[in-house]
Amino acid sequence: AANSREQRFEFYRPELNRGASERFKLEGALRRALERSEFELHYQPQVALGSGAIIGVEALLRWRHPERGLLGPGAFIELAEETGLILPIGEWVLRRACEQTRAWQQNGVPVVPVSVNLSARQFAEHIPETVRRILDETGLDPALLELELTESASMDDPKRTFEILRRLKEMGVSLAIDDFGTGYSSLNYLKRFPVDKLKLDQSFVREIVSDPHDLSIARAVIALGHGLRLTVIAEGVESAAQLALLARHGCDEMQGYFFSRPVPASECARLLCDGVAL
Ligand code: C2E
Ligand code: CA
Ligand code: CA
Ligand code: CA
Repeated sequence: AANSREQRFEFYRPELNRGASERFKLEGALRRALERSEFELHYQPQVALGSGAIIGVEALLRWRHPERGLLGPGAFIELAEETGLILPIGEWVLRRACEQTRAWQQNGVPVVPVSVNLSARQFAEHIPETVRRILDETGLDPALLELELTESASMDDPKRTFEILRRLKEMGVSLAIDDFGTGYSSLNYLKRFPVDKLKLDQSFVREIVSDPHDLSIARAVIALGHGLRLTVIAEGVESAAQLALLARHGCDEMQGYFFSRPVPASECARLLCDGVAL
C-alpha cells in the first residue's frame, strides 16, 4: 500500500505532468503533420567500394516543422512508435520512396534501389500486403526496393519473421539487417533468413581507426556476412582513414558523411546523375 501511495505521489509530480502534456502536444502535432504533408524524405547514397558507384540510396524521414524547422527522426520517431502513429507514417514513407524512385526513373535519372527503414511495429502488421499494394500503386519494379529491419525486430519471433521475409523476397524486394551487431541475432536464424545485406552499425565504425576492439568486431561482421554470402555495408563512414581500413578488410559497400549527407530528393537526383565526388 505504501508503495502504491508512493507511485501515486510520483505520478502527480509537476515535472511528470509537464512531460505528459508535452508528449500529448507532440502527438497531436505528429497527427497533423501527416495530414498537412509536413514530412519529407531525404536520401543518402550508398557507395560500392570497388567502383565508387552509387549502388543504393537510403530514405530517411524528416519533419519540416512549421516553427521548429527541419527535424530528424530522433525528435519524434520514438513517440510515433509508442502511439502507433508509425504505422500511417511508415506507410507514407514507403509510398513516397517508391513514388520518388519511379518518378526519377520516368525522368531518365539513372536509378538505384531505394532502402526504406521499417520499425518493429510495422513489421508486425500486414507488411507484405502493404508492400505489395504500394508497389502496385506506384508501378515501381520490386527490384528497386530494399527494406531495412533491425535485429531486434527480426528476432522477436523468428518463425513469424522467417515467413514474412520469405513472402517479401518472393515479391522480388531485397532485405537488409540494419544496425547489425547492436542487437542480438541468433546465428542459427540468421543463417536461415532470406536476407541480402548486413549493415555494420556505425558505433563500430566511429572509432575503428583507433580502437582495435571495434576493428575486430567489424572484421568479424564482414567475415560472417561473407560466410553467409551476404553483402556487408558499413554505416557512418566519415573519413578516408575509415574507408581505407574497411576496404582493406573486404567491406563491400559504404554509407556516410564522407560520401554525402542525406540530401533532399532534387539534390539526390543530381548525385545519381553525376556520382559522388571522392
Ligand atoms: P539508421 O537507419 O541507422 O540511419 C542512419 C542514421 O545515421 C541517419 O540518421 C543518418 O543521417 C545518420 N548518418 C549517416 N551517415 C552518417 C555519418 O557519417 N556519421 C554520423 N554520425 N551519422 C550518419 P537519421 O536520419 O537521424 O535517422 C536516425 C534513425 O531514425 C535511423 O537510423 C532509423 O533508425 C530511424 N529512421 C529514419 N527514417 C526512418 C523511417 O522512415 N522509418 C523508421 N521506422 N525509422 C526511420
Ligand atoms: Ca537504416
Ligand atoms: Ca543503421
Ligand atoms: Ca541506427
